[in-house]
Amino acid sequence: MFNFQKLQRSRAPRLALLRSFSFLLTVSILISPVGALATPEATKSELPQTSLALAAPPWCGTPEPDGAGSLPDGSDPSHPAGSFPHIPYYAIGCTLAEIQARSNGRMEVEVLGQSALGRDMYLVTINALDTPQQRKDFQTWQNIRKIALTEPQRAQDMLDRAGGDVKVPIFIQSGIHGNESEGVDAMFELVERLATTPYGADPEVDAILDHVVLLWNVVHNPDGRVAGARTNGNNFDLNRDFLTQSQSETKAAVSIMQEWLPPDILDMHGYVTPTLIESTTKPHNPSIDYDLWLKWNASRIDANEAAMNAIGLAVTRPILDWCANGSPPTSPDGLCPNGLPPGPSQAEGWDDWGPFYTPMYSQLVGLNGSTVEMCNRTDTRCGVPGSTAHPLGRLGAKIAQYTVGWSTLLFDLENRHDLLWDELETYRRGVKNAPRPECCEPPYETDGFWMRKYPLAYVIPLGAGQRSDPEANRLVDWLLTNGILVEEMKQDTVHEGMTFEKGSYVVWMTQAHRGLADTALSIGTNISGLIERLYAPPGAWSHGYLWGADTLVIPREANFAPITNRVTKSSHLLGGVEPGVAGAYVLAIDSPTAVRTLNALLAGGTPAQLAMASFISPDGATLPAGSAIFAADPATKVTLASIGRTNDVWFTRSYSDDLPAMEPIDRVPRIAVLTAAVNQDVWSLRNLGFTADPVGTGSSSQLNDPAAANPLDGYDLVFNTAGWPSGTTARARLQAFFAGGGGYIGALLNGANFLTSAGLVSGLTAANRTGNGRSGIVSWNNEGGPNSPIVGAFPAQDTAIMDPPTWFTATPATMSVDGRLPLAGYFLAGLWQPDAQSASAPGSAVIAHGTSTSGAARLAIFAMNPLYRADPEREWAMLASAAYWADQ
Ligand SMILES: [Zn+2]
Repeated sequence: MFNFQKLQRSRAPRLALLRSFSFLLTVSILISPVGALATPEATKSELPQTSLALAAPPWCGTPEPDGAGSLPDGSDPSHPAGSFPHIPYYAIGCTLAEIQARSNGRMEVEVLGQSALGRDMYLVTINALDTPQQRKDFQTWQNIRKIALTEPQRAQDMLDRAGGDVKVPIFIQSGIHGNESEGVDAMFELVERLATTPYGADPEVDAILDHVVLLWNVVHNPDGRVAGARTNGNNFDLNRDFLTQSQSETKAAVSIMQEWLPPDILDMHGYVTPTLIESTTKPHNPSIDYDLWLKWNASRIDANEAAMNAIGLAVTRPILDWCANGSPPTSPDGLCPNGLPPGPSQAEGWDDWGPFYTPMYSQLVGLNGSTVEMCNRTDTRCGVPGSTAHPLGRLGAKIAQYTVGWSTLLFDLENRHDLLWDELETYRRGVKNAPRPECCEPPYETDGFWMRKYPLAYVIPLGAGQRSDPEANRLVDWLLTNGILVEEMKQDTVHEGMTFEKGSYVVWMTQAHRGLADTALSIGTNISGLIERLYAPPGAWSHGYLWGADTLVIPREANFAPITNRVTKSSHLLGGVEPGVAGAYVLAIDSPTAVRTLNALLAGGTPAQLAMASFISPDGATLPAGSAIFAADPATKVTLASIGRTNDVWFTRSYSDDLPAMEPIDRVPRIAVLTAAVNQDVWSLRNLGFTADPVGTGSSSQLNDPAAANPLDGYDLVFNTAGWPSGTTARARLQAFFAGGGGYIGALLNGANFLTSAGLVSGLTAANRTGNGRSGIVSWNNEGGPNSPIVGAFPAQDTAIMDPPTWFTATPATMSVDGRLPLAGYFLAGLWQPDAQSASAPGSAVIAHGTSTSGAARLAIFAMNPLYRADPEREWAMLASAAYWADQ
C-alpha cells in the first residue's frame, strides 16, 4: 500500500523551499504532487489508483471524446514545451470523489447544477471543522452572514468582537471558457493539497483550513471543456451572462455567490502575455463602492504579483501598465503613444463597466474579484525579465493559476477581518443609502470613475402604468433571487400626477445590495466622450429598460413615502377571460408571456387569428394590430380561462362587429435561423415557444448541397443576421423559399443587406458604427402606432439595445417604417460618440416591415437584434409579432 505519511514527510522540506524564492526548485514542488515533471513514471508505478496520481492518466471514469483531454500531453516529442495531461471532463466527478475520500471530512463535493447539454457542474467546499476553534470561527461567520445584509453595522460589531477568529469564504471558478484549460487543472492541485495534507504538516495549509472556506466551481462550462470551445452548449459566452442569467450555468454560480457573499473571487481564464491579473481600467461600474474595491483589489494583486515574481513569472496589471489604446506601451521609452506614461489616468480597455462578467457581478454582491488570464507562451515572455526558467507553455499557465490562487487564499486569510469589515461597510452604506466617499489616493485620483448618486427608489408598477404585470413579476423574481429587497405598496399612491396601484413594487435604495439593484434597474450612463473604448460591448444594460416591464426612477430628492411592506415572492396575479358579453377574445402580444401563451395555445390546437389593424374594445380602448383573436365559444373560453389563470394573462373581450380584418395563424411559426449551430437567437426563439432550428448557409452546408434534402422544407420563415450566402444552391433554395411565400425577419446590418443582395427589395440601405465596443441603449419612436402588426402593442416611445449602433439610411417603397430614432437625444446610455460616420443616424428608420418587390414574401427588418444575448426581453414581443405576421 502507498505510504501516505512518507509522502507527506518528503513533501514538507520542499515546501520550506517554496518560501526560499528559488524559482527552479519551487516549480518542481508545484509540479511534483501530480508527477507531471518529476519522474512521473516512477511516481505512478509506486502509487495505486487511489493515490496522488490525479492530474495524470489513466483517468477514472468512462472515456469520452474531450477537448481538454485531447490536448498535447507531452508523450510525444512533437508536443510543445510544457505540455501535460489535462483532466478530461469525464474524470472530474470520480477524481473529486477520490480526493474527497482522502480528505478526512474536510472536503464536500456537490452537484451544483447542469450545463446547457445536461452535464453536471460540481461545487467543492473545503471547510475544515475538525477543531473547536475552527467550528467556532465558522459559526461566527455564519452569525455575521445571517445579519450581513439587514443589520450590517451590528455585523461589523460582531466581527470586531471576533477579531481574527472568523472564517472568510473565497470563491474560485475555473473553466468558464472551455478552451482556456489549465485553470481547472491548477485548482485540482490546489484543492488536493488543501484536502489531503494532514493538519500540522504545512503551516500554510493549516492557516487556510483554520480561516478560509474555499468554494470552488470546478468546471463552470462543462460543455465547453468537452468541446474545446469558449462557449457553452447553447453557444453563449457565459462570461457575458452574469446579469441576464439566462443560462443554467450562470444561475448555478450566482446561487453560490448569493449564499456565501464571498468578499473575493477569482475567475480562471487564459491567455494573456504575461499573466494578467485583473486590476481593471476605467470606466468602472458606477454602482460599486470604488474606494473599498480599489483598496482590496490593488493590495491583493500586490500579493499575487510578489508570489508570481518570486517564481520568475511576470504579471500585467492593466490599470497600472496600459495606455488609452488598450495596450501596454510599445515604444522603447516606455511611454504611451500620446507621450505620457501608462497608468490609471491613461489606461483603458480592461474595464469593469459591465456587470455581466463573473467578477463584476461578484464585486456588486461582495467586494473584490479578479479575472486571471494565465500566460502559456513557450518562449520567455511569461517570465520576469532576465528569468531563464522558461519556456513553460501550458505547464507555466497551470503554475501561474496555482500561484495566483494560493497567494490569494493566503492574502485573504491574513486580512480576513478587514476584508469582511469593508464588505459589511458597503452593505452599511447601502442600508443608509449613504453617499459614497470621494476617491482615491494617488495614482488613482486621476482614474475615471463615475460613481452614481443613487436615486431614492425604483418603482415597478402593477396595473396602471405597467405594460405587463407578469413581466413585472418576472423582474421581481430576478431581484429576489439576486438578494435585492423588494417591497410593495399597501395602498394606491399618487406621485407627480401618476397613480401607482396598491401592490406596485418599490425597490428602495436603502439596502445592502443597492449597487446591484441600481445597475440592474437604471438605464445606465452615457459615457460617450468620457472614454475611448470598452473591453467588450454592451456599453449599457438594464433589466428596468430592456426587460418586459416598465420601471420608473424616483429621484433622491423626491417627496415619495408610500407605506410599503417587504415581499418574499412576487404577487399572485389574476388572469383569465374578461367577464361580459363577448363575440371574440383578444390577446395583445405585448410581452414574452403573451407570446408563450399564444404559442402554447397554437401548439395545443386552439385556432387563432391575427388582427391586421387596430380596433376598439367594448370599453372604448384601442386594441392593437398584431393581437391574437380567439373564438368565444364555450370550449375555447374554458381553454383561454385556464391558460390565462396559469400564465397570469387576460384575454379581453371584443364584440364580433368590432373585429378588424384578420388572417388565420395556422400554427406555431417554424423558424429557420440562418446559422450553423444553436446560438442565442435559436435559444431565445425556443424560449418563447417557437419551433426554431439552425440552418447553415456555408458553401459546405446542407443548404448548398444539391444532392441533399432542402433544409428549409418545413419552415415558415427565416431569421437572419448573416450575409447573403455565396453558394449557388443555397441562393437558389432561399430564392425559391421567398418566392413561395416564406417569411423573413432580418436583424442588424447584414439582416438588411441580405435582402438587397438577394434582389428581394430595392432601395434598402443600412449603416452602423462599429469598433471600440460602441453599443448602448437607444430610444425609438413608434411610428407604426396601433395599426402596425409589428409594434402595435408598443408605447409611443420605447427603449432598445444596439450592438453595434445600426440604422437604415433608406427603406424600400414596399416597406413601411414602424420605428425610428428621434432626431436628437436618442442615445441614452453606453458608448457611441456622435461622429461623421454616424451623421445619417438621427431620425432614421430602425424597424420596418413590408413585402418583397414581387409581393410574394413578407419581410421585417430590425436595425437592432431583438434576440441579442437573450437579454432585451422587451423586444421579443415585436420580433414574435413579426413572425406571426410574416408567416402567410
Ligand atoms: Zn476567458
